[in-house]
Amino acid sequence: MLNTLKNRFEQGYRTSTYPKKTVELAPRYRGRPQVHKNAPSDLVVKCAAACPQDAIDIDRKLINMGRCVFCGTCERISEGRFISFTRDFEYSVAEKDHLLTDGEIPSLADHARQHFKKLFGRSLQLRQVSAAGCNACEADLNVLATPFFDLARFGINFVASPRHSDGIVVTGPISRNMKTALLQTYEAVPDPKVVIAVGSCSISGGPFRGSPEITEGLDSLLPVDLYIPGCPSHPLTNLHALLKFFK
Ligand code: SF4
Ligand code: SF4
Repeated sequence: MLNTLKNRFEQGYRTSTYPKKTVELAPRYRGRPQVHKNAPSDLVVKCAAACPQDAIDIDRKLINMGRCVFCGTCERISEGRFISFTRDFEYSVAEKDHLLTDGEIPSLADHARQHFKKLFGRSLQLRQVSAAGCNACEADLNVLATPFFDLARFGINFVASPRHSDGIVVTGPISRNMKTALLQTYEAVPDPKVVIAVGSCSISGGPFRGSPEITEGLDSLLPVDLYIPGCPSHPLTNLHALLKFFK
C-alpha cells in the first residue's frame, strides 16, 4: 500500500490535459491538409497522378480526406506549394460532403443531429467492430482507455456487447467475410443508435479501394453519423471527434 502511494506521489497526475489545454503534436505529424489554391495547374496534375488514393480533385483543387492515407506524397512533390499538412488533429466531420475540402472544415459541434448530445452527452457506450482493419486504427482507439487519455472520465466507454451499447465504431475496409458480422452487430444495438466510421478504410475502402473483397464505404451499408479520417486517425483526433459530436 505504501509503495502504491509512493509510486503515485512520484509519478504524479499523468492524464492528458486535453481538451482543457491545447496539445502540440510532433513536427512530423500530418494532420488537417491545407490546399493552396494558387498552385500552378501542372503541379496539381502531377500530385494527382502520384496520389495512390485518387484523393485529389484536379478541377476544384480539393483533397478527399475520406480517401487520403496521409502518406505525404503530394506535399513532398509540390514542396508544400499545393498541399501541406498542418499539425491540427481536429478535422473530423459529420457530413460526407465535408470530407472533400480545401482545408476549411466546418465546426463539428454544429452538426445536424443535436439530439445525440441530449441522449448520449452524459453517457455513451460504444462497441468497436474491426471489419478487417490492419489493427492500427483499432490500436489508436484502444489507447483511449489508457490512463493518459482516460476516455471514461468523459462518460464514454467501449463495451463488449452491442446490446449494452449506444452505437458502433467501425474500422477496416469491411471485407466480404466481415459484412454479415458487422450488420448483425448493428442490428443488435438498441435504437436510437449511432454509427461512427474511423479511418480511410471504413470511409472509402482506403488502400484496398477497388478490391472486390471489400465494401467501398460504410455509408453504403449503414447510415454514418460521424466520419473520422486518417490512416490511422490519431487518438487525439478520435477523442476530439467524440467530445465535439456528443458533448
Ligand atoms: S497525402 Fe493523401 S492526397 Fe496526398 S498523395 Fe498521399 S493519399 Fe494522396
Ligand atoms: S485506415 Fe489505414 S490504419 Fe486504419 S485499418 Fe485501414 S489501413 Fe489500417
